[in-house]
Amino acid sequence: MTRYQLFINNEWVEPHSGRWFDSLDPFTGEAWAQIPRCDATDVDRAVKAAAEAFEGPWSKLPASERGMILHRLGALIERDAEHLAAIESRDNGKLRNDVLGQIKYLAKYFYYYGGLADKIQGAVVPIDKPKVFNYIKYEPMGVVASITPWNSSLPLTGWKMAPALCAGNTMVCKPSEFTSASLFELAKLVAEAGLPPGVFNIVTGSGAEAGGPLVGHPLVRRIAFTGGDEAGRKIYMAAAEGLKRISLELGGKSPNIVFDDADMESAVNGALTGIFSASGQTCIAGSRLLLQASIHDEFVQRMLDKIRMARIGDPADPSMELGPIATRPQFEKVLRYIDIAQQEGARCVAGGHALSGPGYGCGQFIEPTVFVDVRNDMRIAQEEVFGPVLSVIRFQDEEDAIRIANDIRFGLGAGVWTRSLHRAMLMADRIRAGTVWINNYRSSSYTTPFGGVKDSGIGREGGIEAVKEYMEPKSVWISSDLPMPSPFSGK
Ligand code: NAD
Repeated sequence: MTRYQLFINNEWVEPHSGRWFDSLDPFTGEAWAQIPRCDATDVDRAVKAAAEAFEGPWSKLPASERGMILHRLGALIERDAEHLAAIESRDNGKLRNDVLGQIKYLAKYFYYYGGLADKIQGAVVPIDKPKVFNYIKYEPMGVVASITPWNSSLPLTGWKMAPALCAGNTMVCKPSEFTSASLFELAKLVAEAGLPPGVFNIVTGSGAEAGGPLVGHPLVRRIAFTGGDEAGRKIYMAAAEGLKRISLELGGKSPNIVFDDADMESAVNGALTGIFSASGQTCIAGSRLLLQASIHDEFVQRMLDKIRMARIGDPADPSMELGPIATRPQFEKVLRYIDIAQQEGARCVAGGHALSGPGYGCGQFIEPTVFVDVRNDMRIAQEEVFGPVLSVIRFQDEEDAIRIANDIRFGLGAGVWTRSLHRAMLMADRIRAGTVWINNYRSSSYTTPFGGVKDSGIGREGGIEAVKEYMEPKSVWISSDLPMPSPFSGK
C-alpha cells in the first residue's frame, strides 16, 4: 500500500488532519493507496506557497526559461509514461493501453505550450488621440486552482497546467478524491524538470473539505474546473462571490448523427467508439445516436454484431477492449439509468446488466448497453449517464436531425456522418456544440480549442486561446505631450 503525502513547495508534507483515505482499484475492489485528507489549513498553506512563488522566482523567470521547463516536464512525462499510465489505470479502471496513449500525447501539450511561452504577443493599438501611444501587454493572473474529475485525472490536469504555467501563473490542483494518485506521481517529476518550489502544488480530499476552501481562498484568482454541472454551478457561484475568473468543462449528451448516405462501416465504428470508449465514462460520449429512419434497423443490427465480440475484463490486460466502471457510486448510477430507461418504455437490444464472475474482478462492470425506441424527451436521452449506455433515436430528415440534436440543455460535442459536403457544412453550422466531428468522432489536439456551450460549460482548453484565458490584458498609455495641461483655469 502506497501512502502519499501532500505536495506543497516541492516538498512532501503530512495533512493537517493527520488522516488519510483509501483509493480503491475498480477492478479488484481493493484499497491500494492512501490519499491525504486535506482541510482548509492545508489549502491555505498550498495557496500561500503558490502566491509566494508567483510573486517570487516564477515571475522573475524569462518566458523562454519557463518554456524550457515545460518542455523538460513534457520529456519526463514521456519517459515515465508507462509508470504514470499504470497508476492512473489502476485508479480509474480505464484500459491501461488507452491511458498510455493519452499520457504520451499529454507530453505534447507541454511541448506545445512550452514553445508558446515566449511567443505570446501584446499589441500596439491605433488610438483616436494625438501624441499618445497605447499598447496591450498580457499578464498572468496569479494563483490558478485546478479541480478535476475521476475519469482522466492526469490529462485533464495537464490541459490546464500547461497553458496556465506557460502564461506565468502558479497552481494548486485538487484532483478527484477517487483518483488522486497519478497527480502525486506527476509531482515527482516537477522538481526534476526545474519548476521552482510553489509553482505546482497538490491538495487532496473531498469537494466539501478541500475543493470548497480552495475555490473560496482569497488569493486564488482563476478557477479551472472540469466535472459535473451540479458541482460546476456551485463553484461558479462561489467564484462569483470573489469575482474570480473561471472556466467550466462540464458534462454532455452529445448527438452522433448518421445519414443514409454515410459510409456505413465507418459510421458503425464511429458510433461504437463514440459511446463505448472508456466504458462510456467520457464527457464527449456520443450517447445519443440519431439514425435516419431508412437505415435504422440495418445499422442497429451491425452494431449489435460488433458489440457481441467486445472483450471485457481486466484493464491491465492489453487484449481487453472494455474495462470496469471507475467507482461504486457511478456503477450504481448507471444501473439506475438502465432501470429508468426500461420504465420509460425504451427497448433494450444489447446488454442491460452488470457483469460478475471469473474475469470480472469485484464485479464493477456493466455490459455495453443499447436502447432503441428512445424518444428525445425521455430522461435516458436528456440526462448524462456517464456509462456504456447508448440511446438510439430515429429521425426523418436534416431539419428533424437538427431539431433533435439541439433539443437538449448540453452542447459539448456532436458527430455527423454523411458523404455530402453540403449537408456536413450545414450541420456543422446549425448544431449548437463546442466541437463538431464530421465523419470521425473524438478527435482532439493541443492545437485547437475544446469546450462546451449551454450547460456544457464556459471557456476553452487547448490552442492559443487557452493561454489567453489564463492572462489579463493590461492597456498601457504613454503620452509625448508634456507638460500635461492643468485642469484648473487659474494655472
Ligand atoms: P464532480 O463534479 O462530482 O467532481 C469533480 C471535482 O469537483 C472533484 O474533484 C470533486 O471533489 C470536486 N468538487 C465537487 N463539488 C465541489 C465543490 N462544491 N467545490 C469544490 N470542488 C468540488 O464530477 P465527477 O463525478 O468526478 O466526474 C464526472 C463529471 O465530469 C461528468 O459530468 C463529466 O461529464 C464531467 N467531465 C467533463 C469533461 C469536459 O471536458 N467537459 C471531461 C471529463 C469529465
